[in-house]
Amino acid sequence: MPLHADPHPLVNLPPEEAKLLARVQSLVAEKIGPDAERVAREDVFAWDTFRLLSAEGIVGTAFPRAYGGSEASMLLRVRIIEELAGVCSTAASLITGTDLSSRPIVAGASEALQRELIGDLASGARQSAFALTEPGAGSDVARLAARYAPSGKGGWVLNGRKKFITRANVADMFVVVARQEDGPAGAKGLSAFVVPRDAKGVSVSPVIPKLGWYGVPIAMVDFENVQVQAGHLLGQEGQGMALAQDTLLRARIGHAAIALGRATGALRIAAQYAGQRQVFGQAVGEHQGIQWMLAEMAAQIEATRCLVYSTALRYDAGDKDASIHASIAKMHATDLCMKIVVDCLQLLGGNGYLKAFPLERFMRDAKMNQIGEGTSEVHKTLIGRHVLRTAGEMAQHPCLAMEPDLWCHG
Ligand SMILES: Cc1cc2nc3c(=O)[nH]c(=O)nc-3n(C[C@H](O)[C@H](O)[C@H](O)COP(=O)(O)OP(=O)(O)OC[C@H]3O[C@@H](n4cnc5c(N)ncnc54)[C@H](O)[C@@H]3O)c2cc1C
Repeated sequence: MPLHADPHPLVNLPPEEAKLLARVQSLVAEKIGPDAERVAREDVFAWDTFRLLSAEGIVGTAFPRAYGGSEASMLLRVRIIEELAGVCSTAASLITGTDLSSRPIVAGASEALQRELIGDLASGARQSAFALTEPGAGSDVARLAARYAPSGKGGWVLNGRKKFITRANVADMFVVVARQEDGPAGAKGLSAFVVPRDAKGVSVSPVIPKLGWYGVPIAMVDFENVQVQAGHLLGQEGQGMALAQDTLLRARIGHAAIALGRATGALRIAAQYAGQRQVFGQAVGEHQGIQWMLAEMAAQIEATRCLVYSTALRYDAGDKDASIHASIAKMHATDLCMKIVVDCLQLLGGNGYLKAFPLERFMRDAKMNQIGEGTSEVHKTLIGRHVLRTAGEMAQHPCLAMEPDLWCHG
């Protein structure tokens, strides 16, 4: 059923995970849904929602069991994120954003640093922020200008400016990706570090106003001659890009799950409205044009649901192509969500345009999913290149064999 994810043939969670999902569904019905409009009213960090998600062990799903997390499957995380996003983008993005900002620590920190940080990150006692983007480098990470060099005291000294950093104003630490001064060009020159917020030389700008995605504010962060301890390097020197890619892969599946949940939520609202609102002697939904709109949205959502779940299953299975499937799911789900929220808002007429109904905030929030963690255009480029590369690798089917002479000379 397009308006309900459960039961879905692709989702077969073990009992412990099914129990947590059921708990999330109750929280959505009893607390997160009823509170969503208030949370989205102004762009201040949604502490109440974050504390609730932490206390319920939902924040902890991204962290290893050894340090207090529950190390959930990607499939469970997708289902949780989808449920939250159906009513509240903020709640969903608190879950995806915790993963984005902590994953390099989970994947790259030394055992000692993990022991020091992960328990608190999993319980929500402390937070990190992921600082990759800069004023001059977003999609094109090769242009990163933040620099690090040996400090002469066994660690490093870091300089640079990071832009659009979610949670910067509440984070206790930053995961910073920077380029080695006079180091190798390209990805090999990038390394990632944990930088405590209270380190000398770190300064955070006031919150930067934005269109939507309220409850998780962004700010600029400056690092001026910041001394970074040797033990705060994540992975090895030169592994910054690999850690960022691993992080972004998970975050892209998260964006796709948010988009899926929001699109489903929007269709629910529109379908209920169309069933009740009377125009010209009948319900809006009695008009064939509206039924066709609803039918197309329902079909596209269900196809997207299968895509997003299968991408999560590929990730959980360690599929080597999970990354390209994450790009496909992110691009497709977020572009579809944008279209669906606009169409659903239209279906509510003037009411859709009012702040009293959630569709106006769904519309503002949907735009962000098409931009963060690789814009739709960037994913199209990645997917297009992959299609061309793999087409060249495939054995040619005999009936498609063409002599190059025919292409070149007609
Ligand atoms: C609300 C919000 C929160 C964010 N949170 C974080 C965070 O916590 N940490 C962090 O590091 N970053 C964060 N970001 C940054 C985000 O990841 C970048 O904005 C995003 O990657 C795009 O980069 P850019 O804004 O520099 O756009 P640009 O790279 O300048 O792109 C401009 C335009 O060019 C297009 N384009 C780029 N390359 C190509 C191409 N090859 N082909 C065709 N078109 C192309 C883009 O699609 C876009 O339309 C956040 C951004 C927002 C808006």
